[in-house]
Amino acid sequence: MSIATVTRQIVHIEDELCNGCGACVSPCAEGAIQIVDGKARVIREELCDGAGFCLGVCPTGALTIETRETVPFDHDAVEEHVASLPSTYIAQQCFRCGTDEDHSPLLPVRQQGRSEWVCTRCLPALIHG
Ligand code: SF4
Repeated sequence: MSIATVTRQIVHIEDELCNGCGACVSPCAEGAIQIVDGKARVIREELCDGAGFCLGVCPTGALTIETRETVPFDHDAVEEHVASLPSTYIAQQCFRCGTDEDHSPLLPVRQQGRSEWVCTRCLPALIHG
């Protein structure tokens, strides 16, 4: 029996722009993105919720959100998948003060052409100087 499809938002990876750096793997809490043969891939579309937390960290602009027909997002599949992943979690750090995401919420920012993470304490100074 095939699963009914829906029209929803999902991550699109532009192959030609992807350099395989892997920066987008960690921000994806659902484990939907992996590097396969040197390129980022959404390994199973039901794992990608289209929230786009991966977009801000991509140094090449390879990631976008598109709206198209695909399988529905599946919370149960995500829980099962995440539980099966090896423990490779590496906390991201604020590029200004070095605090990590275990101690302060971090937001993706573009800074002088680079994708960085900034903590909520440093964000006001970044905005207002
Ligand atoms: S962050 Fe961008 S360039 Fe790096 S692997 Fe992911 S899609 Fe490719």
